[in-house]
Amino acid sequence: MAKFSINLKEGKINKETELIIGIDLGTTNSLVAYIKDGVPVTVKNEIQKSSLLPSIVHFGAAETILVGDAAKERIVTDPANTVYSVKRLMGKSFGDVADFKQYFGYQVIDEDTESLVKIRVKDRFYSPIELSAIILKELKKRIEANLNRTVNKAVITVPAYFNDVQRQATRDAGKLAGLDVLRIVNEPTAASLAYGITVDKSEGQTIAVYDLGGGTFDISILHIEDGIFEVLATNGDTFLGGDDLDRAIVELWMARNGLDAEALHQNKQLSQQLRLKAEEAKKALSQADKFEDTYEHLNLGLSKDEFETAIKPLIERTIKHCAAALKDAELDTNQIDHVIMVGGSTRTPLVKKLVADYFKTAVNDTLDPDEVVAMGAAIQADILAGNQRELLLLDVTPLSLGIETVGGLMDVIIPRNSKVPSKAGRQYTTSVDGQKNLKVSVYQGERDLVEHNRKLGEFILKDIPPMPAGLPKIDIQFILDADGILKVKASELRSATEQSIAIKSPYSLSEEEMAKMLIDSIQHAEQDMKDRALLEARNEAQNILLSTEKFLKQHRNILNEKEIGRTTELATILKEAKSGTDKDAINKAIEELNEFTAPLAHRAMDHTIAEAMKGKKI
Ligand code: AMP
Repeated sequence: MAKFSINLKEGKINKETELIIGIDLGTTNSLVAYIKDGVPVTVKNEIQKSSLLPSIVHFGAAETILVGDAAKERIVTDPANTVYSVKRLMGKSFGDVADFKQYFGYQVIDEDTESLVKIRVKDRFYSPIELSAIILKELKKRIEANLNRTVNKAVITVPAYFNDVQRQATRDAGKLAGLDVLRIVNEPTAASLAYGITVDKSEGQTIAVYDLGGGTFDISILHIEDGIFEVLATNGDTFLGGDDLDRAIVELWMARNGLDAEALHQNKQLSQQLRLKAEEAKKALSQADKFEDTYEHLNLGLSKDEFETAIKPLIERTIKHCAAALKDAELDTNQIDHVIMVGGSTRTPLVKKLVADYFKTAVNDTLDPDEVVAMGAAIQADILAGNQRELLLLDVTPLSLGIETVGGLMDVIIPRNSKVPSKAGRQYTTSVDGQKNLKVSVYQGERDLVEHNRKLGEFILKDIPPMPAGLPKIDIQFILDADGILKVKASELRSATEQSIAIKSPYSLSEEEMAKMLIDSIQHAEQDMKDRALLEARNEAQNILLSTEKFLKQHRNILNEKEIGRTTELATILKEAKSGTDKDAINKAIEELNEFTAPLAHRAMDHTIAEAMKGKKI
């Protein structure tokens, strides 16, 4: 149904169709885009005529807030009150970011390491969600002014490796900015949409999205088939980008002009100037073969060859990540059909060349690498608005999701790299007679013991009717929706008792940690397997000891002293083995106890049946 409104300024009637905007909420810059006459366009600001809104917020005196270019200038003049790179803090606890807190010029608060970070500016505390909301509000304002209408629905992009907490935080930021976030879309998926890689139905295509921005590098391998996108693998480095190329140039100039690190440390003005000049040189060398300049008698000339020699090792590092992603996706370079370039730093010719060489194919670089993600978000928004053929967007989970079972073992319910949305479940039971409550602790990670994984949340399934251990049927369902938000539901099937949570936990993972967890899980695989086997043996021993104890109590009357004595003796041996670390010794003790008690259990059963039959006369 078409709605219309009156534009008082121009005295015109606007026929308003539903407008959903696309937003690229970036670490360095953010953009907003929409579909105009069938094509995606980004919205520029009125003064600088740039579509990039620096993702920077400055808090001035008397509650004034500056966003974007105006705030960017304050990074140098008023660092304590200027917040940048807030995306790095989304959904993170202080523990997650403690290692790189010196990276921020503003104050990141450590209240207790498990709660989400807060940023202190003067006497106020802001969450990364609130700060992102300020940036989103600015984008909303920009497009509303440009189109002269209100907008309240958006699609926002996030990196493919963002976990459910980070995705939820992004949604919350949108909500806070007055935007109904209809979909969270992966950045590489958006970039592929912008390049129109929708293929003929018969054949799927595999795409590598190479994203080198100002401070971060991401490589994503996607597969698209029948309009369905799937993330096969992601890799990258959160601290590798254009800034590092600038630094390489500064170092080259320092060496040439006989300056050492201390000289730069002492002279902040010089350091800042060299950095700016380096970026200028780098950008110039994307077109020219030579850059010439001086600063206070320092020779700041740079040839393209010198530049390329200096940055080659950095670009080679990105190629290593590409290889790791391909390995994860179990693919070879010749299986990649398209390579898409995203991020301002992919304008550097050597970047394009080395990437094309590695993938042995020409790269897609016809769209503006800064705008391509926002454009794709706008296309996704348009699809949701019903203006385009529906495309299903599919992603994968970067880490396994599961619950803690007895002995601290991780029981994976949705394995790593499962397609999203995804639903999986498993049945469990109680380990104690008459158990009324069951704690369900949800973890993320690849290790066998939950203590090495990350806890996402927990809840208690209450009011299970009293039943002997092992009888309740507890069904645990994991439902991961299209945005990567996890809902966990537990129900006792015999009594229809039910409890569920949506994971909104204060924990989250940095990309480094995620990579580390994956590496750790491989390096520790052997030890983890041993630990798991030991714990499983101990769990089994515990169950058998409990039932033996129960058996002795209930059936003492049909057992003789010798039998009681030997059972107790074997149980003691098992108890001792259980407290040791030799799983084989435990298993052996289990077997011996079982072997001895099996005939006794039979006798007890016969006796019980006979007792039950007594007095039942026909
Ligand atoms: P992004 O985070 O995607 O906006 O990327 C910004 C990065 O792209 C910064 O490091 C810029 O210096 C870099 N950049 C912008 N324009 C160029 C260019 N013409 N050549 C090389 N790098 C560029």
